[in-house]
Amino acid sequence: MENKSNNSFETKRPSWEEFWFTLALFYSTRGTCDRLRAGCLLVDKNNRLIGAGYNGSLPGHPHCDDVGHLMVDGHCLRTLHSEVNAILYSAGDLDGATAYVIGTPCIDCVKKLLSKKVKKILFTRDYDNKEKGGKQIFELANSSGAELRRADIDFAKVLKKKISILNGPGGAFNGQDIKLT
Ligand SMILES: [Zn+2]
Ligand SMILES: [Zn+2]
Repeated sequence: MENKSNNSFETKRPSWEEFWFTLALFYSTRGTCDRLRAGCLLVDKNNRLIGAGYNGSLPGHPHCDDVGHLMVDGHCLRTLHSEVNAILYSAGDLDGATAYVIGTPCIDCVKKLLSKKVKKILFTRDYDNKEKGGKQIFELANSSGAELRRADIDFAKVLKKKISILNGPGGAFNGQDIKLT
């Protein structure tokens, strides 16, 4: 007989898309440039994490948040973008992988992801890249036979769902009833 004892409240597990985007969101909080705090996760065909990054200065270099931006033609060039960091520190085969990106990826990052044979690039939270190939990124992906699209994630809802799971039976916050206000 089906055991329904755990179904008395809503603890539906997050979907893969919600799950990976939440992790990417947490990565973005380590970003060091307040023009955009970005995060990128690379996940293989079997839904295993093989790369992750946020936008940050080179190791040992000062952060935008501490010394200001490095502006050239209206863009801050100080950081390595989250997608590049994710690729540089990835372990595993990126062929056929999916990239989950916080903030519309720039054309350079899209090119790098496509050259690594990433087959799906999902982003959330629009970032204005119009002058820097914001429209062409879709054409590039299309020419590589890759999918590039915006995913609408209701982060408030997803985070609430996760807190509810964490507060629930077996959850890390069980007994503390932590609330997001
Ligand atoms: Zn900056
Ligand atoms: Zn980029």
